[in-house]
Amino acid sequence: MSIEKLTSSVRNIPDFPIPGIQFKDITTLFQSAPHLKELSDILYERYKEKGITKVVGIESRGFFMGPAVAIRLGAGFIPIRKPGKLPYKVIEETYTKEYGEDTIQIHEDALTKEDVVLLHDDLLATGGTMVAAYNLVKKLGVKKIYINFLIELEELKGSAQFPKEVELNSVIKF
Ligand code: AMP
Repeated sequence: MSIEKLTSSVRNIPDFPIPGIQFKDITTLFQSAPHLKELSDILYERYKEKGITKVVGIESRGFFMGPAVAIRLGAGFIPIRKPGKLPYKVIEETYTKEYGEDTIQIHEDALTKEDVVLLHDDLLATGGTMVAAYNLVKKLGVKKIYINFLIELEELKGSAQFPKEVELNSVIKF
């Protein structure tokens, strides 16, 4: 299956959740068994030689594909969650969004300095969420961090927010 076919399976919803946003709905991609298999194969092929020990997914749409990729790579899965959701001791990172601030958390013992991490989310827009997640994972002192998105909105130039040495990939680009 081509990337074009995967791309056309993403449904665009204008003005959701607020006017002016072109929301990329991935449920239409995930509901198709062949499309889901193709996505899983692409991610497996891209990361199978990297020695990934943990996939870290960002709440909530990073939980769709994160565990599936972790299983294929023989890695564990770690959730990054919104405040008040994780039951054990956490570390957190607060970041500025277009309107106001947001905080994300991870369990303080979720990763070790031996871990090679694949940090995963559904979509890269401005990059604010993933930069905060990257900083959070870095605080735990892991060996290496790779970053992956299913979708990248290229005109927002979110990838420019990351240090040059970070290997960042997205499957579908708009
Ligand atoms: P950002 O921090 O600006 O890169 O925004 C990324 C986060 O917001 C991701 O977790 C996405 O799920 C969500 N998001 C931002 N823009 C969109 C969009 N146009 N369509 C779908 N999700 C979006």
